[in-house]
Amino acid sequence: MTTINSDKKIRRKQIRCRAIVSSETNIPPSDEPSLFVAICNAGLSTGLTEDSVIQETQKYGKVSNLTMIPNKSYCFLGFDIVQEAINVFDGMHGRSELGQNSTVIYMSYFKGTPEVENPMDKELPPGTIIIPDFVTLAEESALLAAISQPPTTGSLKNRLVKHFGYEFLYGSNLVDPDKPLKTTIPKECDVLWHKLGKKQPSLSWFKPDQLTVNEYMPGHGIPPHVDTHSAFIDPILSLSLESDVVMDFRKNGQRVSVLLPRRSLLIMSDECRYDWTHGITPRVMDVINTPNNGLTTQQRSKRTSFTFRKLRYTPCDCKYPTLCNSRKTNSLESKEPLEKLAKKVEEMNVHNIYEKIANHFSETRHSPWPNVAQFLDAFPPGSIIVDIGCGNGKYLSINKETLQIGCDRSSGLLSVCSSNKQHVFKCDCLSVPIRSSTADGVISIAVIHHLASEARRLQSITEMARVLRKGGQGLIYVWAKNQKANLKKSSYLRQNKAVNKGKISEDEQRQKTENDSKEMNLEIDIQLPVHTNRTEFQQQDVLVPWKLKSSQESRTDTSTFLRFYHVFEENELENLCKKVSDITIEKSFYDQGNHCIVFRKL
Ligand code: MN
Ligand code: ZN
Repeated sequence: MTTINSDKKIRRKQIRCRAIVSSETNIPPSDEPSLFVAICNAGLSTGLTEDSVIQETQKYGKVSNLTMIPNKSYCFLGFDIVQEAINVFDGMHGRSELGQNSTVIYMSYFKGTPEVENPMDKELPPGTIIIPDFVTLAEESALLAAISQPPTTGSLKNRLVKHFGYEFLYGSNLVDPDKPLKTTIPKECDVLWHKLGKKQPSLSWFKPDQLTVNEYMPGHGIPPHVDTHSAFIDPILSLSLESDVVMDFRKNGQRVSVLLPRRSLLIMSDECRYDWTHGITPRVMDVINTPNNGLTTQQRSKRTSFTFRKLRYTPCDCKYPTLCNSRKTNSLESKEPLEKLAKKVEEMNVHNIYEKIANHFSETRHSPWPNVAQFLDAFPPGSIIVDIGCGNGKYLSINKETLQIGCDRSSGLLSVCSSNKQHVFKCDCLSVPIRSSTADGVISIAVIHHLASEARRLQSITEMARVLRKGGQGLIYVWAKNQKANLKKSSYLRQNKAVNKGKISEDEQRQKTENDSKEMNLEIDIQLPVHTNRTEFQQQDVLVPWKLKSSQESRTDTSTFLRFYHVFEENELENLCKKVSDITIEKSFYDQGNHCIVFRKL
C-alpha cells in the first residue's frame, strides 16, 4: 500500500517530469484525463522497448498507438477511449517498473502527442547499397573460423583488429603498398565475390586485396571518418557478422542512421564512399524501426565486421574534393582570391559568431591553463604584458604585479573584461595599435587558428614580434589537428572518452547525440567540412559547431553556430615562427590539445 508520504513524492516527481516533457514537446499537459498519456521518465534513451510497453499496458487497458521519440527519456500512449487511458494510468502511474533499472514510472495526461521524425527513414546517401542476408549462417561461421587463426594485429580502444593483405596504418590512415603482409585474405572469402557479381553485376570485377577485421563489443564505436581517398579505390565493402549495428553517415550537418543487419553487406560507392563520413556511435543499444513503423531499442551484441578494400596506386580523381586528401582544393589555401575569401570566412565564421555567443562562451571559459598562467607569473613586477585576442580576459588578472592589456575583436567579450575593470580595447590581431618594441610579454592563446590563410597567420605572429621589445617573450597556443597521437590526451577528447567506455549517463549521451545531429546553417557557401565535436579532426580547415542555449527555461531553444578553425599539424606552428626573422623559438610543446611555442625577440 502506498502511504501519504510516498503519494506526495510521486506527485512531486510527476510534476517535474511533466514540465520537462511539455517544454520539450510544446504539448500542454492536461489536468483532466485525456486520450494521451505520457510515460514521463522512460523512453528510447533509457532503453525502453516497444514490446515491453505493449506487454505491460495490455494488463490494464487498450492502447491504440505508441510514440517512441529518438533520444528522449519519455514516450506517448494514445487511446481511443478516455476510460482506457484512465485504466492504464491508474494501473501504472507510480507503480509499474518500466523505468531504467526497474524504477517506477511517472505518467501524465497531455492534450496531444508529438510528431516524430524518424531518423531511420531518411534516404540513404547516394551510392549506398545494403544487401541483406548476403552470407548464410554456415558461411558466417566459416568466415569467423577462417580469421580466428592468425594472431590479432593489434587493438584500438579495446577493439580487436586484424589485417590481411596489407596493414591499414591507423594514424596516417594509409597503407604501404610496398609492404604486403604474409597473411593474405583467407580463401574462405572467395565465395563472396561470385555472390557479389550475381547480386550486383556492375561490381563483378571487384576482388579486394586488403581486409580489415574489427571486433566491436557493445559500447564500442568508431568515430566518423572517410576511408582515405588516396589509399583505396571505390567501392569499400563492409560485411556485418554476429550482430546488427546502426551506422551513422554524415555530410555537412546531415545525418543518416542506417541499420546494418547481421550477415548483410554494405557497399559504399561514389558519393557515399567519397563525400560522406561513416561511423558507429559508441553505445550498448541502438534505436531501430519496428515492422509497423514505430521505434524501439535493441541491445547490441558482439559484432565482427569484415571491411574489404582495394588499393589505389594513383592519386584520387574523385568529384568530391571536400574530404579528398589527393586534392588541395579542400583547403582554403588553394582558393582564389585567397585573401578576400579568408577575410570573408573570418568575418562570417569567427567575428560574427563570437559576438553572438560571447556571453555563453565566456561562461565556459573561466579556468586558466596552468602553463599559460605560469608563463605570465614569471614576469617581474612592472612588466607590460599584452594579450592579443584576450577573450573574456581570463589571463588579464593572473600576474597582478604587471600591467596587463588585452585586445580582442569581439565587443561582447570585451565588455565582460570591462565589467571586471580590465584594460582592454578592440582591434584585429593582424594590426595591433601598440607602438613597436614596447611590451615585455605578448600572448596569443587560441587565436591564430581562427585565421583562414597562412599569410594571415604569419602576419599575426609578425605583429606579436613587432610589439615586443628586444629580449621580450611571446607565447602562442593553437589547436592541434592530431589530438590523439600525443601521450597527454587533450581534455577536448577526454570528454568523449566516457562515451567510448559506456560510462556516460544517458542524459549526457543524449545531449551529445543531439549536438551531432543538429542541422547546420552555413552562413556563406564554402566547401568546408563540419567537424563532429569531440572526435579526431579529418581536415585542417574545418567548421566547428558551438551550441548555444538561448535561455535556461526554454530547454529546446538552441542554435548551432559554426566557427572556422585551421587546426595545426605537428611542427606547423614552429615552421611558421621560423619565418619571422627577428624571433627565436625557445620552447615548443604540446599542451591540452594545443601546439604551443615560447619565443624571444632578438
Ligand atoms: Mn571506414
Ligand atoms: Zn578523392
